[in-house]
Amino acid sequence: MVYDVVVVGAGFSAIAVTINLVGKLPPSASIAIIGDDPGFGRGTAYRTELYLHRLNVPAGRMSVFPDRPNDFVDWLTRRGRPLQAGDFASRRDYGLYLRDTLASLLRNRSARCRVDFIKAKATGCVERFRVGLAFTLDNAAEILGKNVVLCLGVGNASLPMEMANLGTEVRKHIVDNPWRLSWLQRIKKFDSVCILGSGLTMIDQVLALRAHGHEGRIQVLSRRGLIPLAHVRDHPPAVEPILPTGQLTMSALLQSLRRQAKACGDWRALMDGLRPGIQAVWQRLDKSERARFLRHALPWWNIHRHRIPSDVSDRLQAMLRDATLEIHAGYLTAVAEDGNRLALTYRLRGRQQIASLQADWLVNCTGMERAGIRHSPLLQEMQRQGLIAADPLGLGIDVDRTSQIIGSDGQRQPGVYAVGALTAGQFWEITAVPDIRVQAKSVSALIAEEA
Ligand SMILES: Cc1cc2nc3c(=O)[nH]c(=O)nc-3n(C[C@H](O)[C@H](O)[C@H](O)COP(=O)(O)OP(=O)(O)OC[C@H]3O[C@@H](n4cnc5c(N)ncnc54)[C@H](O)[C@@H]3O)c2cc1C
Repeated sequence: MVYDVVVVGAGFSAIAVTINLVGKLPPSASIAIIGDDPGFGRGTAYRTELYLHRLNVPAGRMSVFPDRPNDFVDWLTRRGRPLQAGDFASRRDYGLYLRDTLASLLRNRSARCRVDFIKAKATGCVERFRVGLAFTLDNAAEILGKNVVLCLGVGNASLPMEMANLGTEVRKHIVDNPWRLSWLQRIKKFDSVCILGSGLTMIDQVLALRAHGHEGRIQVLSRRGLIPLAHVRDHPPAVEPILPTGQLTMSALLQSLRRQAKACGDWRALMDGLRPGIQAVWQRLDKSERARFLRHALPWWNIHRHRIPSDVSDRLQAMLRDATLEIHAGYLTAVAEDGNRLALTYRLRGRQQIASLQADWLVNCTGMERAGIRHSPLLQEMQRQGLIAADPLGLGIDVDRTSQIIGSDGQRQPGVYAVGALTAGQFWEITAVPDIRVQAKSVSALIAEEA
């Protein structure tokens, strides 16, 4: 059969697109969702079983529906977990909210379109003239769609180091994918842990370790040693910044934002005011200015933009004070075996000096790789066939302002869209729910108009 829409992916983006499509397509239509994840809709972010893993966006901004902002807060209340709009709910609850929202829409079979969940990985894709795109799956099946939405998220970054020279026993103590929380069952109470990367993934793992009763030393190594900054308990109201006019450069933008942040007392107010307009700001920067931002400002942007709840920050600060947690800034140069431990060598940031540290465990928290073609065999195949083109700065694939994919010939691919981080080259700020839900809604509306 030929589906009206094929959605590829099984995370939030895929589920948000499906929820919107079910609301808009006639009962005669059909949707297939191809996803290789056990929990459809949860992706890496909302699959966690740990209640202590919290959202980093307040509950009042996490509704899947942009025009019904209280939907998630109301769901929490119905579930007996009343929270305020400004509170940070658990990510596990958010996963359950997505599951429930989709399930309640799918209940009324006679009034809605057909929705098929296909648990598989899409590995290849070919164009079928005048019909649409055909995806080949890892179970050898083929799924054909007139319209397509790619919702592939970002891949996990692998450890930036060859580990082949290490013995098998020691290699068992290297955790390449910390999202498989089973590694926590193997760790002993006073084992020492080195975490590579100092962003939100590191914070999750530190909390998870302590929740599992781990009391050993944790050392964090990242290039700059910067950790996410905290939200404040009483959020200051957002202040919309006044932006420089004319051709926008990074230096003029930063200068102006710094000045206004000082004037408004708490920089968070300005960041929050800037956030809704980020996509428009990004679209005003030309390629060289975007590259300048990625080269120089990105780590600073990340820690100001991706903040953590203040109580989580208090816990980290207490651990830093009593030195059970240490942060090192440097560039990892080697991992070797030292008896049955790991010895890591790194170059101190900004110096030629080499330092080393020992640990029982090495955990890869270098986080999510920027959505790129490299990590996805499907995207590589689509690129080979000219169906997609890479964003020139490595931020996913080329799409236009309606999220329609642009092929290697520079032409829009009719009915073929991408949603989520794959579209970061066009929108930049498109990795979190408040932005993806808007994109999912508008892409679904375009598909429904033409269906
Ligand atoms: C730990 C963590 C915490 C986060 N916390 C928040 C938060 O509090 N608030 C917020 O707004 N955002 C948060 N985010 C951002 C989060 O990425 C987005 O909210 C959202 O989950 C992105 O969903 P996605 O569907 O675009 O990507 P993903 O969740 O990555 O899902 C992509 C899915 O596509 C599947 N897939 C990929 N390739 C194929 C293929 N070829 N065939 C089939 N399936 C495929 C993958 O297996 C995956 O299931 C967090 C992210 C992480 C990692």
